[in-house]
Amino acid sequence: MNHLLSATGTTIFTVMSALAVQHGAINLGQGFPDYDGPEDVIEAAAAALKDGRNQYPPMTGVPELRRAVAEANRRFYGLEVDPDREVVVTSGATEAITACLMAVLNPGDECVLIEPLYDTYLPVVKLLGAVPKLVRLSPPKWELPRAELAAAFGPKTKAVLFNTPMNPTGKVFTAAELAFLADLIERHDCYAICDEVYEHLTYDGWKHIPLMTLPGMRGRCMRIGSAGKTFSLTGWKVGYVTCDAALQPNVAKAHQNLTFTTPPNLQRAVAVGLAKDDAYFDGLSGELAERRDLLTRGLQALGFETLPVMGSYFVTADIRSIGFTGDDVAFCRAITEEAKVTAIPVTAFYAGPNPPSHYARFAFCKNAAVLEEALARLGAWV
Ligand code: PMP
Ligand code: GLN
Repeated sequence: MNHLLSATGTTIFTVMSALAVQHGAINLGQGFPDYDGPEDVIEAAAAALKDGRNQYPPMTGVPELRRAVAEANRRFYGLEVDPDREVVVTSGATEAITACLMAVLNPGDECVLIEPLYDTYLPVVKLLGAVPKLVRLSPPKWELPRAELAAAFGPKTKAVLFNTPMNPTGKVFTAAELAFLADLIERHDCYAICDEVYEHLTYDGWKHIPLMTLPGMRGRCMRIGSAGKTFSLTGWKVGYVTCDAALQPNVAKAHQNLTFTTPPNLQRAVAVGLAKDDAYFDGLSGELAERRDLLTRGLQALGFETLPVMGSYFVTADIRSIGFTGDDVAFCRAITEEAKVTAIPVTAFYAGPNPPSHYARFAFCKNAAVLEEALARLGAWV
């Protein structure tokens, strides 16, 4: 048995979703929409299933999708990308993260990670024999602690794994923060794995800036996107990596050894999605902003203090503000069992000692009626 995997718990998303089912709770825990993505994208997938291209596609992705990823990089960020030499399509961002870490890390290399962090990051870094260096963001401001970040970099640093817009904080890193990080990356001659799955889910005029667009960063960044988030189709598990032609062969070889390919029909449908007009992308964030406002205002009306959400699917609420005296795990269990609403404890995103333990993460990527019912249930409980 692999001792690192034996020591890894079942993901909090699976644990809380199972608890939600067991108690008939509305699941505002795991971040998946309860509505489907765009009909034309789904129809494109259905048509692609029937047109006889159901065998192994090219390893790095079907040409249509690689071209669409390159074009989206140009359209949204002004990045010039070679679809044949600088893109790898993966089975979700989850695979992409692992493939990028595998592409650059050797045992003993250090990898800088920012807490709170998504739950697959740390186990994979450790499985590769690399050494994690954690830098902590704390609520309520989630500010980047610049001195600590700088201190986490050293002669053994090979990579930083970085998520913006950020789950679970809803933070969108600013140009100044990115510039600070870019400077460290350049000075320490290392790589950045950029988890940008929420790139199109930003609100109130906040714009996502890929680290890759900063001076000196084009050859150092592996930029990861996910069709699951961009098209509200989380079960499809189609992700894509954009990186320099010098890095791409290693990302491709990692992918070759992980899954080798990703279903061709879904890839072709995602290519249709990425070509959709600006109205689609604006509409996506506009609708999510309304859902965010509905849930945030509702939680506030119940007495919860909530933290600002600039991007992502999630709002975090301070559980002390309604007089709850236990920790976030006890809170999420209590509301699941008693109020029949599920959330995720924010401590699940921390690996270091003494994490902030009084925040719960609620997903707002749900229909308005579901959010209203969840608020009514919480209202009867508080
Ligand atoms: N990174 C972050 C920050 C996430 O929240 C998620 C979950 N949606 C993923 C990666 C995984 O994305 P995918 O479903 O495309 O594997
Ligand atoms: N990314 C989703 C979340 O943060 C969960 C994905 C999963 O269940 N692995 O809720």
